[in-house]
Amino acid sequence: MQFENDLSDVVASDKAHVWHHLMQHKMFETADPKIIVEGKGIRVWDINGKEHLDAVSGGVWTVNVGYGRDTIADAVREQLVKMNYFAGALGSVPAARFSERLISKMPGMTRVYYSNSGSEANEKAFKMVRQISARHHGGKKSKILYRERDYHGTTITTLSAAGQPQRQAHYGPFTPGFVEVPHCLEYRNQYGVTENYGERAADAIEEVILREGPDTIGGLCLETITAGGGVITPPEGYWERVQEICKKYEILLILDEVVCGVGRTGEWFGYQNYGIKPDIVTMAKGVASGYAAISCTVTTEEVFNLFKDDASDPLSYFRDISTFGGCTSGPAAALENMRIIEDEKLLENTKAMGARLEQNLLALMDKHPVIGDVRGKGLFWGAELVTDRETKEPVDEIKAQAVVGHCNAEGVIIGVTNRSLPGFNNTLCLSPALIASKSDIDQITDAIDNALTAVFGSGS
Ligand code: PLP
Repeated sequence: MQFENDLSDVVASDKAHVWHHLMQHKMFETADPKIIVEGKGIRVWDINGKEHLDAVSGGVWTVNVGYGRDTIADAVREQLVKMNYFAGALGSVPAARFSERLISKMPGMTRVYYSNSGSEANEKAFKMVRQISARHHGGKKSKILYRERDYHGTTITTLSAAGQPQRQAHYGPFTPGFVEVPHCLEYRNQYGVTENYGERAADAIEEVILREGPDTIGGLCLETITAGGGVITPPEGYWERVQEICKKYEILLILDEVVCGVGRTGEWFGYQNYGIKPDIVTMAKGVASGYAAISCTVTTEEVFNLFKDDASDPLSYFRDISTFGGCTSGPAAALENMRIIEDEKLLENTKAMGARLEQNLLALMDKHPVIGDVRGKGLFWGAELVTDRETKEPVDEIKAQAVVGHCNAEGVIIGVTNRSLPGFNNTLCLSPALIASKSDIDQITDAIDNALTAVFGSGS
């Protein structure tokens, strides 16, 4: 593609001044950054004019409705010239309208608290748990459980709840009161059970609760489907037991739907695939598909009522603020994003194309023994690569990266689970926009097929 504007200055400026996220800059001594300049639908063009099929929705499961959506840009522009900002305490027209629409997709939930990123949405949920503990449990029920391999954000407190130790390295000391529970990845069954793995994995949460003392624990925060920690779908029986445990010990269930919310799994929210009734749900990335920065912490009326005014306690309400939280461009974009998902029947497309992606990945698994496991839901999939299906030894990180590199060279951008998990950075990640067509899905899996053959040999 030939771009309209001259971009010849951009790479030098980037290399001189931009501090890239999650990146060792040494590589820029020998290579230029591949800045993405334009996007349309499911495709993007980099600064060299090369076209790519984006199979990871903006790299991190975000651009659910695809690129170049004029109507979202128009809605944001219209809102900004009318009223760009006034502090959230007063409310705004788009926040009221989007909240109404969002709540209509979340039976059982009633209140939306706005912020700007997934980290913040989770941090707000943690603050709610802490304040409920202070006000209703004499400060005793302040601990929050999180799960091995899950991730909830990049601030010091959300990192305190990270089940990915390499993400934490160098950033301590952390916020006290966060306690880890074991992962629930059946493929790496840590209990040796051959039946009812899901219940066993949930029982492990109860064991931690009993060890810590149930009256010290206020919340359990889980990714409904773990994303960067390995695309871990919950095993059968897991959620039913988790729900029972939370009820039994009066622990608030916080579901992190930052990745799997807003259509990604073929339902509006990931938890709706499993019949779970959460107390708090957090969401960010796909809420406005990256057209604006917006995140939400959504609660039940029961949770909201725990912050009801109490004349004897002037500190009783939720005394949190976020200058840009709910800033009008966010909910304006989110409202139009939701309309698109509805009118274009993208949930239905996600289910249909997700089934095709699953089928194609299973066919690749038949052909390439290096694929040890395939997991996912809707348009949110992972293929775990192992050197040996018996031992399940993860493939070398360099080889997993080489598969990604081969796909990129073929014009398909795929991902791999994060490099900060040694031994577990071997799961290829696929999450195309919810508009993906059959031929897009086939192009993605054809590229992976070719890449696996190139890196591991034919019939690898
Ligand atoms: N929760 C999950 C499950 C995530 O994957 C992420 C980011 O990747 C976050 C929270 C943090 O979101 P943000 O980067 O918007 O702060």
